[in-house]
Amino acid sequence: MRALVKAKAEPGIWMEDVETPAVGPNDVLIQVSKTSICGTDLHIVDWDPWARETIPVPMVIGHEYVGRVVEVGSEVERIEVGQRVAGEGHITCGVCRNCRAGRRHFCINTIGVGVNRPGAFAEFVAIPAFNAYPVPDDIDDAVASLLDPLGNATHTALEFDLVGEDVLVTGAGPIGMMAVAIARHVGARFVVATDINPFRLEIVSRMGADRAVDAASADLDAVMADLGMSEGFDVGLEMSGVESALQQMLDAMNNGGNVALLGIPSKDRNPIDWNEIIFKGLTLTGIYGRKLFETWYKMIAMLQTGLDITPVITHEYPAAGYREAFAAAAGGEAGKVLLDWN
Ligand code: NAD
Ligand code: ZN
Repeated sequence: MRALVKAKAEPGIWMEDVETPAVGPNDVLIQVSKTSICGTDLHIVDWDPWARETIPVPMVIGHEYVGRVVEVGSEVERIEVGQRVAGEGHITCGVCRNCRAGRRHFCINTIGVGVNRPGAFAEFVAIPAFNAYPVPDDIDDAVASLLDPLGNATHTALEFDLVGEDVLVTGAGPIGMMAVAIARHVGARFVVATDINPFRLEIVSRMGADRAVDAASADLDAVMADLGMSEGFDVGLEMSGVESALQQMLDAMNNGGNVALLGIPSKDRNPIDWNEIIFKGLTLTGIYGRKLFETWYKMIAMLQTGLDITPVITHEYPAAGYREAFAAAAGGEAGKVLLDWN
């Protein structure tokens, strides 16, 4: 089969012919129809320090996808050949303390599809049937290819109650954009998003932000005053991975506020004002991946009741156009960039 392979321990990605993955007794083989490029894939292509430490080569990359099941292992009961599915990219062990307690999102042995084992930028991908999530017919392939990052946005946004609350989202990348749409969908009062990229600020304002604020130049106090907010934000969703953005968020939170942290900072740490966390009595929580299938259930229900994430999709290429696709995703003027494998 054709697949995008991290073939060498150097920057780049290569389309190669590789063996179609073997299907174990508990696995399903999925014929991939659409995939979406994640920031993680860009790190792997760039071969940055994280990728060098993490990715064994050769490795088929990619973990955001939808496709159709073409083969099931001998022990698989719940999933059938012909079913349209997307894949939960975190494969959990099932036997650690957290897994056994039903908290699989805290599994200490999580394996990542397209990171630690062959991924989905390929004609076929094999995953445990447990990780295959059936996609209803009313969700099209383009949107279904985004269920993995939509799951990150959903997990983060639903971590705290947003109904009637004032919500600040720092970082209007694809995940921040989708979190804004979710906050709007579930009934937040004001939703303010920050970024430093004008192209992305324009998209996030179309996805339901009351204000899309340039973090480099604008003053959040003035934005709050303009909206008639006198006390600060109730919920913060950090989706940039930039320490100055987190500091700006801490400054703008109301006492007793709740902050969910998804953005992953670089290793060169900048100081955060801890006093603010203490004296404001803030609750901060880290978010990793999805709350597995509870998140899948909620996000599909939201998509079926009017949640619209389509503005986040800005580019689509045939798989053979992967070089242009990766260039578009790495450039500033993009939301989600899709690859079509049909
Ligand atoms: P992204 O890199 O496309 O988006 C980050 C956005 O932050 C960009 O649009 C950037 O312009 C913006 N930004 C930069 N400086 C800023 C500042 N000072 N203030 C406000 N915004 C600023 O990433 P994404 O795909 O949308 O993902 C969001 C974050 O979540 C990334 O850090 C990613 O690594 C992380 N992530 C974490 C998990 C997890 O499980 N914890 C999963 C997926 C992604
Ligand atoms: Zn486990």
